[in-house]
Amino acid sequence: MTNDDGVLSPGIRTLAAALAARGWLEAVVAPDRERSGMGHAITVDRPLRAKPLADAPYPQDIPVLACDGTPTDCVSLGADLLYPAADCVVSGINQGPNLGDDVTYSGTVCAAMEGVLLDRPSVAVSLCLEDGETIRHNETAARAALAVLELLPLDRKKPALWNVNVPNLPPEKLKGFRVTRMGERRYTDKFTATRDPRGNDCYWISGKIRDCMGEGADVTAVAAGYVAVTPITLDMTDYSCLNAMREETAQERFEKAFLQEIEK
Ligand code: MN
Repeated sequence: MTNDDGVLSPGIRTLAAALAARGWLEAVVAPDRERSGMGHAITVDRPLRAKPLADAPYPQDIPVLACDGTPTDCVSLGADLLYPAADCVVSGINQGPNLGDDVTYSGTVCAAMEGVLLDRPSVAVSLCLEDGETIRHNETAARAALAVLELLPLDRKKPALWNVNVPNLPPEKLKGFRVTRMGERRYTDKFTATRDPRGNDCYWISGKIRDCMGEGADVTAVAAGYVAVTPITLDMTDYSCLNAMREETAQERFEKAFLQEIEK
């Protein structure tokens, strides 16, 4: 298990307890601090350290390591080196949604992507808290994650990546589950310009969410009160564009233009 909110986040602790109660948890390797928004970043300019967490607020007998790297570092260290017997990677419960284009920024989802790159079926779990919400239904998200993990094929030859987003509701208020596609979520008014106490300009990234409520999209399902389960692939090729470019013999046109460039 890992997350991007840090090893002490209530999300990962709730999910770790639920997994451990089923006997499904081998180890936790998670960032020693908040690492949200790191995407698929890795640390290449210094060695990583991963220390056992003293007095860890986790089930006993489960190794818990606090790592000074990114979420992706944690998965690659955990699954590749320290716990190679682990047969899947679970990332979360993120304290906020990872819907639509959030996926590209998300340390939580990209940690699960790293799991897939290491041939592990992987699940990212996020609790769709909205700004200002203080009641956090992490237990709902943990139960939803268990239900999904029951059905995750543990096939290391063709590892699945499922992005699970759970509305912040008590379990009896959930409408159900929807298998969804990655929707479109954009942010407007991304920056709040302000001044620091020394009078220097600074720019705080936040932004207002603008969702495209398309049919079958994760954003649409969560807004309607459903748990959204989106299968994700790492192949980002735009196949319709690829086919159009092949029909237009773009390769030959690139080559011709390149020859003209180098003759200049
Ligand atoms: Mn996070």
